[in-house]
Order: sequence, then structure tokens, then C-alpha cells
Amino acid sequence: MTRLVVATGNRGKVRELSELLADLDLDLVALSDFADAPPVDECADSYVGNARLKAHAAARYTGLPALADDSGLEVDALGGAPGVRSARFAADHDCGDGDADNTALLLRKLEGVGEAERAARFRCAIVLATPDGRELVAAGTCEGRIAQRASGAAGFGYDPVFYYPPLQATFAELDPAAKRAVSHRAAACRNLRQQLRGFRLSESRRG
Ligand code: IMP
Repeated sequence: MTRLVVATGNRGKVRELSELLADLDLDLVALSDFADAPPVDECADSYVGNARLKAHAAARYTGLPALADDSGLEVDALGGAPGVRSARFAADHDCGDGDADNTALLLRKLEGVGEAERAARFRCAIVLATPDGRELVAAGTCEGRIAQRASGAAGFGYDPVFYYPPLQATFAELDPAAKRAVSHRAAACRNLRQQLRGFRLSESRRG
């Protein structure tokens, strides 16, 4: 079994990625399990850029292959915002901080915008980096629209306002397993799994 570091302090994310990659012979451990792991400034202007920063920093620090993801919500009527700034949407507009303020601001910005113009998608990039500097880049999306009001109590982030038409529910109204099956992270994991075939996770030994 190959040990793989997940560049996050969020145990929920490690659990979710472990389940999505369960059929592979991988043992996922959180970067926060390593003492004094340095924080990484997510300063890139793309999901891939941020995932790349986190994955390579974790691989260098631990000497193990490392996986990082970055994701966000893009709303067509807002020209793709909040995008890479999804986690800091309200803070960027001095409208508070955190999930509830982010969703409240999003609904305010879309007041008066009709159903047809509320198309949105979650996007996720995953980068797997090796200590010798190689990488795989995977991506996934999930299409939906922004609901007129928040509904449901499951999940996190924008889940209460992200309406997923095929299941006729917001992500926060779905059972976590149902969301996991259709999410942007699941799509990115499927893409990663395809690329992992034939990819060497550890350095080949010479001499
Ligand atoms: P991160 O990739 O975990 O840093 O997520 C960035 C931000 O995008 C989160 O803080 C959420 O606001 C939003 N986001 C990403 N994935 C989801 C999701 O599955 N549901 C709801 N919000 C999400």
C-alpha cells in the first residue's frame, strides 16, 4: 500500500477522498498529522495553480507523494464569480466571513435574476505531486443552478443554494453519499484514477 499525503488539515476531506479512491491501494494521511507542516498561501489565480502550490509543498516537506485539491463555484450571471475566491467571497466584499455570509451575499447579488440566468457549476482541480517534482493534474465539474433561497442542512459552503437538476434538490438536501457520487470532487477523482494507471508514485531507484 502506498502512503499518500493529503495537503489539508480538514479530516472530512481526507475521509471523502479516501472513499472516492477506495479501490486503489493507497493509504491517505492528512498533512496536519506531520508536526510543524508549513502553511501554504493559496495565492494563485486558478484552481490548478492553488492545488499545485499545496501538493508540491506537501510532497517536498514529507518526502511522500501528495495530493491537493482546490475548488469553487462559478455563476454565469456574475461572470464566473466567486470562482477561486469562493471561500472568501463575503470577506472580499466586507460582508462578513464564512459559509452563511457567502451564500447570503450570493443570493443578494442574484436578486431579480430569473431561473434561466442562474446557471452555475462547481469546479474542482486535483494535483498529485511526487517528491521528485512530477505531477498529475485532474479536473471535474458539476453543473447546476443557484436556487432562489437556501434549503437543506447537509454539506457545507454553497451547498444550500446549489440546486442540482438531475436529483431535483439542493446539495444540502441530499444524502452525503448521493452528493459524493455526483460532485465535482468525484468527477475529478475519476479523472485522476484514469491518469494514475501507469503513473509511478515513488521514485525509481538507480545504481
Ligand atoms: P476548497 O477547495 O475546499 O478550499 O473550497 C473553496 C470554497 O469553495 C469552499 O470554501 C466553498 O465555499 C466552495 N466549495 C467547494 N466545494 C464545495 C462543495 O462541494 N459544496 C459547497 N461549497 C463548495
